[in-house]
Parts: sequence; structure tokens; C-alpha cells
Amino acid sequence: MLRIGFDLDGVVADFRTAFLDAAAKLLGQQAIQRPSSPMPDFDAVSAADAKRVWQVITAMPNWWVGLAPYEPAQIARLYQLARRYRWEVSFLTSRIPTAGDSVQFQSQAWLETYGYYMPAVVTVPGSRGEIANALRLDLIIDDQLLNCLEVVGASQTKAILILRMGDAGLEQQATDRGIGVVHRLDEVIEVLLQLQDILPSKRGSVLRLADWFFKREPDAHVLPMNPRAARPIPPHSDK
Ligand SMILES: [Mg+2]
Repeated sequence: MLRIGFDLDGVVADFRTAFLDAAAKLLGQQAIQRPSSPMPDFDAVSAADAKRVWQVITAMPNWWVGLAPYEPAQIARLYQLARRYRWEVSFLTSRIPTAGDSVQFQSQAWLETYGYYMPAVVTVPGSRGEIANALRLDLIIDDQLLNCLEVVGASQTKAILILRMGDAGLEQQATDRGIGVVHRLDEVIEVLLQLQDILPSKRGSVLRLADWFFKREPDAHVLPMNPRAARPIPPHSDK
């Protein structure tokens, strides 16, 4: 079964828009827009201004829970496929803590809202390469070329770079280093399905043999799609 690491911001959650909204509210629209560009832009925000925006954001309880998803249907689809194919999915994030709940819990609550039940969220204080190696991930999906480079440089893990806004230069750099490039989450899922298909041959003959001898009974012993609806925990007895 596949072991997959998903970055959150820029991959499933639209951090960019939420940050720029907070910046516009604090500093005014002109602070997030360069005169030359019709679009709000991260790079238009000076380092000093960004620091002020972060002060506001980190003081807001559970700010991360309010982010919009890029492709909400794909989050639920990823969950359903992970259940079907028994993928081990970890969501990796280096989010900055805010007031309210921990980053881990905010992220878990957010993912459940969009249909990914009981998500494993790992907050990564250090290098993505180390964590990819330690978790023996087959694949990571990230929106930062640097994170992808770190992972392929430090582990056997493959990387997919998600570039939501086309950038031919970045795309070339990534491709030259053996990093796959996509533009949307639904494309990532198509790649995962292809990997799922070729996995037995990729992992060698032992797995193929096991597949041949042990017929799977896919639906007999699994919990419902929403495990929270499965069965109430019986009241605790002290006897
Ligand atoms: Mg990211």
C-alpha cells in the first residue's frame, strides 16, 4: 500500500488568499498590490508589514480553521480512495501556531470538515527530507520546490510539485530533477491511482505472489466511510 505525505498550505488549503485578506484588512489594498500588477501579490508585502500581519494572525484563535480549500471535493475523494486502497496518508505542515487550539488539532478539524475523517497530521519543525525518510514515504506532494528538492535529496521518496499558477521556469527546474509537476489536486489523485496500479510490479515479485494467493475481501472487515458514525462507544463501567 502506498505511503503518501501531503503538504497542507498551497496543496489542499488556500493559505495565500487568507494571508492576503488579512494583510489587506490591516494595511489596505495598496499594500498587497504592486502598481504594475492587477493581482494581489505576496511579494508586494514588505518583510516588516508581513511581520505585522503575522502578529494579527497569530493572535486570532484557530485562524487556520478558517482557510478555504482549493478543491474540496478532492479532499473527500482522497479520503475515500485512501480507505479503499488502504493508503497510509500523512498531512505534513510547518504552520505557525496561533491562539486557540494547537496547529495539529486545527488542521485535523479542518480536514474533517471537508470529509477527511481522522486525518494524521504531522507538524514538521525540521526538514521534510528527514520526515519523508523516517516515515518511508513513497511520495510527497508539496507546493514548494525547495521542500521537494529536500525530500528527493534526503530520501528514496518521490516528489510531486503542485504549481497552482503556471511557471514555466520552475516547472523546468523541477522536471530536470525528477520531480513531477501538476497544477491541481485532481491531477495528483490521478497520479496516485496510476501508482496504485503499478505498485505490485514496482515492489517486486513477492508482493505479486502474495496478491495471487491471498484474495482480498475488500468490504467485509472495514469500518463505514464515516467512522464517526460507526457505533457509539459504550458507557464506561467501573465494575
Ligand atoms: Mg505549502
